[in-house]
Amino acid sequence: MRTPARPPEVWEGARPRELFAPEQAAHFEAMYRRCLQEGKTLRYEERLEIPNVGCRQFQTTLTPIDGEAGRIELIVGVAVDVTERNRLLRAAEEQWQLAEQRARTIEVLLESAGEGIFAVDPQENVVLWNPAAERILGYTAEEMRGRCAYEVLHARYPDGTVMPREACLIHQSVHERRSFPPGEDYFLHRDGHAVPIRLTVSPLPDGGAVVIFTDITTLKQMEAELRRQAGTDSLTGLANRRAFFTAGERLLAERDPAWPIAVLMFDLDHFKQVNDRYGHAAGDQVLRSVAAILSETLREQDLAGRLGGEEFAVVLPHTTVAGARQLAERLRQSAAERVRIPGSGGETVTISVGVAAVAPGETTLDPALSRADAALYAAKEGGRNRVVVAPEARRE
Ligand code: GH3
Ligand code: MG
Ligand code: MG
Repeated sequence: MRTPARPPEVWEGARPRELFAPEQAAHFEAMYRRCLQEGKTLRYEERLEIPNVGCRQFQTTLTPIDGEAGRIELIVGVAVDVTERNRLLRAAEEQWQLAEQRARTIEVLLESAGEGIFAVDPQENVVLWNPAAERILGYTAEEMRGRCAYEVLHARYPDGTVMPREACLIHQSVHERRSFPPGEDYFLHRDGHAVPIRLTVSPLPDGGAVVIFTDITTLKQMEAELRRQAGTDSLTGLANRRAFFTAGERLLAERDPAWPIAVLMFDLDHFKQVNDRYGHAAGDQVLRSVAAILSETLREQDLAGRLGGEEFAVVLPHTTVAGARQLAERLRQSAAERVRIPGSGGETVTISVGVAAVAPGETTLDPALSRADAALYAAKEGGRNRVVVAPEARRE
């Protein structure tokens, strides 16, 4: 018991009433009486207002001591000041409750997050794996716990080739204590396919790292679809002008100089009249039918595009001018026989075609297309519904 700031001689022989406030003194006397009555040791906690010290908590033991006649002669009281101990206990309890609360909050967060979340230890082994991670990648928490994240999720690129451990962001984050801002990557699904993801990786203060990721499969599909649509002519489904030139120049860049390449340009004959007589919708249907015939006539490696209006162009890799002329002739015939104008009672359209070879040194499509265009003009001049081959490019 902390000694009150009152010299011991003042305590000796004094009654509680002389030392403490009446209420507190009454409490002491009541406890002494109880000890006397029950004749056994009492243990209890009490709060006492100690003069000059303030309110303290005590753990008190009153032990009755028997005299010779079997009567209680003395009560020995020991009061231990437990104020500080109780304060520490309370603080620890509060801390514990706070930690418990935080742990429960984190658990709910992990359970309900739409993002896949997992953590790895300094050896890159998974120590935490949330339900969204299971949903996205197919592995349960039990299956992943203790397994190396790199080996399970990152050992291969989507094309199947080996990803070196050094390229794995989780590995880098753990070993270089670096965090990685949101970026695109892949994780391997339990069934083996690569899932496109967006992920962030953050190193943990005590080693290891936390990974948060979202599945961007749908986004990737939408992007691919948008890219496709951006390069596609919506009326005919053929490549639009820009996509045609991009793909055409790529074909030229990759060309083997030993192989010939030819181009076609064609334009519908008197198409203004088709629109004027049967309406624009009928005209559109004709354009779609021409594109359909074109698609069924071409080979896989050929490239067709609608350059605008009712003008089309084709690049024919591995094709001589003679071969291109034959193909153009087939196209012309098919149109004249099968492309009927809606509402016309069976009338068909005709096309005029210009054919040209890409000269060996040419790296862009423009010169060959200009020659094909000139040949097309000649076909129109010559009476339409015909194929004209451009003269060979003049050698420099
Ligand atoms: P030519 O035989 O000399 O080619 O005569 P043409 O009437 O076909 O003349 P031109 O090629 O100059 O005409 C182009 C016409 O094509 C003009 C326009 O009305 C029509 N056209 C262009 N784009 C479209 C389209 O997307 N839909 C429809 N229905 N018509 C189009
Ligand atoms: Mg025309
Ligand atoms: Mg035209």
